[in-house]
Amino acid sequence: MAKILIVDDSRLIVHVGKTILTKSGHEVILAQDGLAGLEAAKSEKPNLILLDLIMPVMDGYQVCEQLKEEDSTKDIPVIMLTSKAEAADKVRGLKMGALDYVTKPFDEGELVARVNIQLRLKELYEALQEKNRQLQEMANRDGLTGLYNHRYFHEHLSKDFLRARRYHESLSCVLLDIDHFKKFNDTHGHQTGDVILSTLGRLIQDSIRDSDLAARYGGEEFALILHYTDGPVAFCVAERFRRTVENHEFHEKSETLRVTISAGVATFRNEQIHDSKELIEGADKALYLAKEKGRNRVEMYGIED
Ligand code: GH3
Ligand code: MG
Ligand code: MG
Repeated sequence: MAKILIVDDSRLIVHVGKTILTKSGHEVILAQDGLAGLEAAKSEKPNLILLDLIMPVMDGYQVCEQLKEEDSTKDIPVIMLTSKAEAADKVRGLKMGALDYVTKPFDEGELVARVNIQLRLKELYEALQEKNRQLQEMANRDGLTGLYNHRYFHEHLSKDFLRARRYHESLSCVLLDIDHFKKFNDTHGHQTGDVILSTLGRLIQDSIRDSDLAARYGGEEFALILHYTDGPVAFCVAERFRRTVENHEFHEKSETLRVTISAGVATFRNEQIHDSKELIEGADKALYLAKEKGRNRVEMYGIED
């Protein structure tokens, strides 16, 4: 069942249309002039509109044009109602965005068939759009952890950097790397290593704010973009997460396993950082330092001690 709006200034037409479409299982709402039709389209969000072309004050062409201009109504399928068999009217209506036309007086079978075809096409189109959204989302994600992937991370970081620079916002980047993971794999097996990676992905996702972004940067490396976050706060976020991982028990095949991570933090507003590439390089240098200083620790780029 769909909700169908009939816009026609003829009482007889709207009455007959309503009777036919109600009988075929649809909910029908009516408007007897163009303006009322436009308002009903916006407030009632019908699945389809049957629109008379010739009406006083505001004709069907104007209604159609305005429906197509408005975001909330532009995707509602429109079928023109035309009493004239003149091709020119139909062509003009189709050019303005109507998808089909039905000639008056109605042939019951034809009206129902044309309405149902457009409803079905709309349904298929929406399903296709949803599939596309899902595919796009999958293309941006890493399969093992569900976090964003390397490519998506870089796309985002470049945009976020430009915005932070323009609006004088702080922006931080954190790189995280599992300590001695090669040895872990060698000891416990690659599959158990995969379980650790996917669990870490979930722990990271749970520990950041909605406005932040987490990605799997490489094999056993993760990256975070922390918006509106200066150096000291970013350091605390990384340090808190380091501790979370240190204290986390991974239960796998009746074993209790532990891993640690090292992290490097870099922040924009540091005068050594001029673009997103330098931001990620800064985080990488800090991560290297954390490894050098013994692992299971967080270091900040540009702060010497
Ligand atoms: P470090 O503390 O210096 O980071 O030592 P590391 O052993 O973690 O670093 P290294 O770069 O030498 O080795 C990374 C290891 O991560 C080797 C590789 O097998 C493992 N790894 C990378 N990707 C995956 C993955 O998808 N699954 C599993 N199980 N292991 C992975
Ligand atoms: Mg490592
Ligand atoms: Mg590594």
